[in-house]
Amino acid sequence: MRWSAQFLRPAVSAAEFPKASVPEIAFLGRSNVGKSSLLNALVGAKAAKVSSTPGRTRALNFFLVSDGRCGSEMIFADLPGYGYAKISKSISAEWPKFIEPYLAMRETLALCICLVDANLPARPNDRQLFEWLRSAGCEFLVVATKADRLSGNERTRNLAALKRGLDVEEILPVSAKTGLGIAELWGKIGEAADRGTRD
Ligand code: GDP
Repeated sequence: MRWSAQFLRPAVSAAEFPKASVPEIAFLGRSNVGKSSLLNALVGAKAAKVSSTPGRTRALNFFLVSDGRCGSEMIFADLPGYGYAKISKSISAEWPKFIEPYLAMRETLALCICLVDANLPARPNDRQLFEWLRSAGCEFLVVATKADRLSGNERTRNLAALKRGLDVEEILPVSAKTGLGIAELWGKIGEAADRGTRD
């Protein structure tokens, strides 16, 4: 595999974040949306395995991701899978203390990859999260996971409905199982990392 991931550390407070250095890509998604599988498809089994180690599932897990060909580096930040119920009450009050500061203030954050299930209807709380990310000045890309479960027509229909329901212009369908969309996703990650960090 061209890319390899090395686990850096889990963090449950801002003080535990690694030093901000290379561009960072954050992965956000509800539990069971397919986040571990997608990380696995992007950088190999190590990332997913580490994030499912007991005690790490509620932490923000940082990985150093290196390109075997040119030696360039970035950090993947795997945010804890959440129930969005908490966010819907009050994002600012309930969003866990270390996630909000990370998303709002991490100067090296280049892109948030937000996972939604391609097979499920849009949820108001997802939409609310995206509004929050916009207001926090976070660049984000929505990817629709498990797209292999849908036929071509169903996929087109579901994606159009998700775009409307979530009020986003673009959704990238992906499948960790078949590899659908993985090369495109790497393209988006590379572009964001090249553009660099937030203003
Ligand atoms: P996480 O909780 O977000 O890390 O989700 P996981 O990666 O553990 O996946 C949750 C479930 O969805 C598992 O049963 C996976 O096998 C399944 N899953 C994940 N990605 C895909 C996919 O691309 N296609 C299909 N068909 N199933 C998937």
